[in-house]
Amino acid sequence: MSAHKDFVKPNEAYVASFGDKGNLPLPPSKKLLIVTCMDARINVYAELGIREGEAHIVRNAGGVAKEALRSIIISQRLLGTREIAVFHHTGCGMLTFDTAGLREQAVDEFEFLDVESDVKFLQEHPLVLPETKVTGWVYEVETGKIRQIV
Ligand SMILES: [Zn+2]
Repeated sequence: MSAHKDFVKPNEAYVASFGDKGNLPLPPSKKLLIVTCMDARINVYAELGIREGEAHIVRNAGGVAKEALRSIIISQRLLGTREIAVFHHTGCGMLTFDTAGLREQAVDEFEFLDVESDVKFLQEHPLVLPETKVTGWVYEVETGKIRQIV
């Protein structure tokens, strides 16, 4: 596989229109962190109207809050974010594996919770700052639409 060979040309176009984004401050201006799935069909920036410099985006298989925790702690303590939006989505490939089956393949520790449970996990976690606003969402891969669940 050599998909990487397609990087350079689009990057040249990107650099040509990069503008002053090199001057953006490090802390996200919206004080927002988004947890979402690594699913290749999801374009978080386009779907939510987020631009560079505005939010941290943490992606993993399933958009699992527990797996995102290390990044969330750094984001809050070092870079000032105070809001978390957890996104799960329809047609998630991660839901087609059962947790017990994954455990047998040595991918322990990961439970694929529903979005409400992931929000609750973050609200109750002692290392997540108590003043954090946490919301939970579902993204529909079929339509591009988002729905707030919590
Ligand atoms: Zn997914």
